[in-house]
Amino acid sequence: MPQTSGKKLGVTTLEDISALILQSHDLNETLNNIVALVARRTAADVCSIYLLEENETTLRLSATRGLSPESVGQVTMELGEGLTGLVVEEGRMVATEEAQDHPRYRYFQETGEEQFHSFLGIPLMDRKKTIGVLVIQTREPRSFTAAETSTLSAIAFQVASIVINARLLDFIHQKEQEAQTFALALEKSRQALQPVTETTPSGQEGPLRGTVAYPGLASGAAHVMVDSGGFADFLEEDQVDPEEELERIEQALEKTRIQTIYLEKRVAEKLSPDDASIFHTHLMILEDRAFLQRIQQQIEERHCAAYALKKVVDHYIGAFERMDDPYLRERAADMKDIGRRLAANLSGREDQVLHLKHPGILIAKEVLPSDMAALDHEQILGIVTESGEKNSHAVIMAKALGIPALVGVKGVVKRIAPQEPVILDANSGCLYASPPTAIIEEYDRLEEEARNESHRLEEFARLPAVTKDGTPVVLRANIGLVSDMAVAQRNGAEGVGLYRTEFPYMIRGDFPTREEQYRLYARVVEGFDGQPVTIRTLDIGGDKGLPYFSPPPEENPFMGWRSVRVSLDNRDIFRTQIEAILMAACHGPVKMLFPMISGLEEIRACHEVIAEARQTLSAEGIKFVEKIPVGVMIEVPAAVKMAGQLAKEVDFFALGTNDLIQYMLAADRNNPLVNKYYDPLHPAVLLVLQEVAEVAAQQQKGLCLCGEMATDPAHILMLLGMGIREFSMAAPFIPRIKAFLRDLSLNTAEAAAKKALSMTDSAQIRHYLQQVLNNNLGGA
Ligand code: PEP
Ligand code: MG
Repeated sequence: MPQTSGKKLGVTTLEDISALILQSHDLNETLNNIVALVARRTAADVCSIYLLEENETTLRLSATRGLSPESVGQVTMELGEGLTGLVVEEGRMVATEEAQDHPRYRYFQETGEEQFHSFLGIPLMDRKKTIGVLVIQTREPRSFTAAETSTLSAIAFQVASIVINARLLDFIHQKEQEAQTFALALEKSRQALQPVTETTPSGQEGPLRGTVAYPGLASGAAHVMVDSGGFADFLEEDQVDPEEELERIEQALEKTRIQTIYLEKRVAEKLSPDDASIFHTHLMILEDRAFLQRIQQQIEERHCAAYALKKVVDHYIGAFERMDDPYLRERAADMKDIGRRLAANLSGREDQVLHLKHPGILIAKEVLPSDMAALDHEQILGIVTESGEKNSHAVIMAKALGIPALVGVKGVVKRIAPQEPVILDANSGCLYASPPTAIIEEYDRLEEEARNESHRLEEFARLPAVTKDGTPVVLRANIGLVSDMAVAQRNGAEGVGLYRTEFPYMIRGDFPTREEQYRLYARVVEGFDGQPVTIRTLDIGGDKGLPYFSPPPEENPFMGWRSVRVSLDNRDIFRTQIEAILMAACHGPVKMLFPMISGLEEIRACHEVIAEARQTLSAEGIKFVEKIPVGVMIEVPAAVKMAGQLAKEVDFFALGTNDLIQYMLAADRNNPLVNKYYDPLHPAVLLVLQEVAEVAAQQQKGLCLCGEMATDPAHILMLLGMGIREFSMAAPFIPRIKAFLRDLSLNTAEAAAKKALSMTDSAQIRHYLQQVLNNNLGGA
């Protein structure tokens, strides 16, 4: 089995497994699809799943890729037999390079497994109980790296949840059948039909499924939002008095305008003025002459106000949906939103979701901008939408607020009754309606465990980040939207190591003005109350586009016109942003960071633009900070080689390993086909990281690593040992890393890094680092 690139491969494979669950119709089909996928991804000769029978002593081969297909369902073994049995007995992973030499090896003729040498068995666990084994076998004798085993353990965890879920489903079906038999018996004796309490509502076939947008568990009453179009029952009327209808629509328009102003204010307070700017667009539409004239025209043609409104709004929605430009297509959602609010005001109906009286799970066709504004976030425990848009407002909101969310759940609005009790399992992508007691109890327990774990980690959020021997480490947050601020603070971030300013640019309709940017940055800076905020200038291009700024089509966008290159070619936009950053620095410690610098010319050009920005601000008599720390991202290999010279031009470095790895190893960070080449522990990557750390130390420049690799303990072990003391990451990882650091001594990290740096093979490095973690931290 060739090496796999650990965490990243894991994430993609886990996502793909979620997709497989959606495509499969029963447990066997799902398990078959999974073994095929895992065998393919890991390039193993065999991947099999054995499940423990109800008697808890017999293992049965339930799916395989690589062994004889006829043996599925046929091959069984008792626990005392074979290596697979050993995995169950000991409840731990068993790995051996030469299975035949192992005292517990047993040959099953039916499977034809004599050709296989290496064996890796990972237990499938339900809490502390083993319910089966995931087995990988290869023809060539070989050992398994720590990254491979950790990826496969994550997959085994997912397989176990699928099996547990399928068994729960069986339980529901069984109960349903019992209920049906019971009902038939009752009918026969002409008694009233009474569903038994432990069944799901009639007609329901187990949980609904969707795509996980943000993982987690939640349960409570369903808050079902009515059809967001709001037009379902708007029918044409026979007798229409146009004057009366014009008066009605005018009143509805007026009411909606006032509501829109209120929504804008609320969002500006709760999120940011930037997030609120969408309601400007809504107001503009509500005032738009053409829009109003079309409605008027419909009414003058003797249609009632409701019908006229529906016709015009539908026309606009259709027109937007047909647009090629993704930004304009997205405006269809705004039109629906406006139409819905107008319709509610016209009919005198209240928008029910504005007043959630108790916590619950929000169920909706889709969540529109005004919902995002109006909903009381504290009352939303989970979100489930029919719309499957990954970038919908619902998903953005759910992620920012850490609310479990499932999207693309077909027919959910019709299937779930208002206030019906539901359980949302946004780990395995299921929504249970009126679940039976057994499922409720199971999920109560799981929720309790998740709560305990997050409480345990909460304590670490408040503690300083130090190693076991007291060496201080700085952990900062990577943020994008204003709503990330609260998450960063809750998780104990020491300020912001990377503020990706392209995100606020992305959610707007055009380039923000200097004043708008200044207000936004100032708010972030003030929010961190004296802790530093590193603001990175616009980093668009590659995989990040702006809806209103289309770069020319490029063969190779990551190697193309992106990041600081775009800024330097658009000096006005660039200078405006730098001016806003210098102005915001009046509100607290700000650092300015330039992305994708590859040489001295670029950083010198950036300094020129800073000088121009200062001049403009001085000439306009605007308050700003003359001198703030300026840094460059080291994310292009050329910058590593130029680090010594670059250091003379700047105050600090930010190591952007996400890009640095892809450029060093020529492996696209987003392409699953080359995932195995994208390897943070590749010796070449480690050598350049070491080089940068040395330059920063020699020249006494700040150094913060802000790529994804900072969230993995094995990587932190290595980086800390190389001398890096500052990291910036997605804030929810901070408490975990603090907990990890408190068990790690600097000596251990330094010795480990030294040894790992002398190794020439990343599988060996990964294996070694995992061993160090296991030995020193008891397997943490
Ligand atoms: C990086 O490249 O490592 C980085 C932090 O920046 P981004 O992920 O925004 O490219
Ligand atoms: Mg980058």
